[in-house]
Amino acid sequence: VFAHLPHIPEVPIYAMMVAFSRDPSPLKLNLGIGVYRTEDGKPFQLNVVRRVERLLVNDRSTFKEYLPITGTAEFNRLSAKLILGADCPAIKENRVTTVQCLSGSGSLRVGAEFLANHYHHHTIYMSQPTYAAHLAFFSAAGLAIKTYRYYDPGTCGLDFQGMLEDLLSAPSGAIVLLQACAHNPTGVDPTLPQWEQIRQLIRAKGLFPFFDSAYQGLVSGNLDEDAQFIRLFVADGGECLIAQSYSKIMGLYGERVGALSIVCKTAEVASHVESQLKLVIRPMYSSPPIHGASIVATILKDRDMYEEWSIEVKAMTDRLISTRRQLFDALRDRGTPGDWGHIIRHVGLFTFSGLNPEQVAFMNKEYHIYMPSDGRINMAALGPKTVPRLADAIHAAVNI
Ligand code: PLP
Repeated sequence: VFAHLPHIPEVPIYAMMVAFSRDPSPLKLNLGIGVYRTEDGKPFQLNVVRRVERLLVNDRSTFKEYLPITGTAEFNRLSAKLILGADCPAIKENRVTTVQCLSGSGSLRVGAEFLANHYHHHTIYMSQPTYAAHLAFFSAAGLAIKTYRYYDPGTCGLDFQGMLEDLLSAPSGAIVLLQACAHNPTGVDPTLPQWEQIRQLIRAKGLFPFFDSAYQGLVSGNLDEDAQFIRLFVADGGECLIAQSYSKIMGLYGERVGALSIVCKTAEVASHVESQLKLVIRPMYSSPPIHGASIVATILKDRDMYEEWSIEVKAMTDRLISTRRQLFDALRDRGTPGDWGHIIRHVGLFTFSGLNPEQVAFMNKEYHIYMPSDGRINMAALGPKTVPRLADAIHAAVNI
């Protein structure tokens, strides 16, 4: 009965992972995958997470029965506090409803479905370019996708004017997806004063913000600082959605831990919204998994562990910043044609290198370096041993 189905090719990033795993070269280098790795390109686990896992194994009070549809109440409360701040008036006034979801992806997907069912405007604006899966999450829910200008290839920076113009010409009520920090794939974020201008425009035009926070802490090294602009949006009393992911910030990728928060005008609305979110989640997957949320809640509620985690986040960020500097210096030392200052200016895991698809293909063929054809480099996959090799490859590629 399924004989009529055409074969759908792998999405490019997964096709690249398959090609990488089949490459027998001992020098192969995967800069495409969007995860934080060790300097040797190996999977990275946070010490605080290992410590909590040991505690949980020995904790006789833990259980594996089903969680409620909305997940662990404690995890939800702590997640809202992490992104909105301990003193957030909206939390104190019970205007925020938070549900545990299957990582950032699941939070975006549940949020998209909720908006498609209950929000009057069915168009969502996202940055050009954006994380590829964003299109899939929102179009699967039936929302129409539009883009706003974001990245300026001329400066390898933010097209702030273009962004404001496009948001200004969006119809009132449209949803706007905003990446909270460490923009994927470009590595380009607005500054705080620019965010304030964006906030004013969004509120003045009655646009509806949906924040995607997958890298909190990995820009400044400080968890509160990276959430500052979202807090501006909540402090103004307006509504918004926030998707949070613990994949990168706690290294919990495969545990699928995340949260969706909806900031409402009143506590009564927030409680109605929560009841409606249950109707979205129940027919999708009934309830979320327990283990990853237990790890997160244990860390967030314990002062010492929170401190240990903050220090690890800072160390991860410092390494990203130092790797950017190493790559920049290596290209300068080789006299590689071009201005590579954007590598240092960009933030978070990614850098839109400016390499074109031919150059990327050349580096793949000659140097066994794997990255998407848009030239996005995952800085977290590099270390002192691999930076020189990448610099050699870039140098050769731009000279072909
Ligand atoms: N949002 C952004 C901007 C991302 O870069 C990612 C992953 O790369 C996600 C969301 C989803 O990640 P996850 O589902 O693992 O939390």
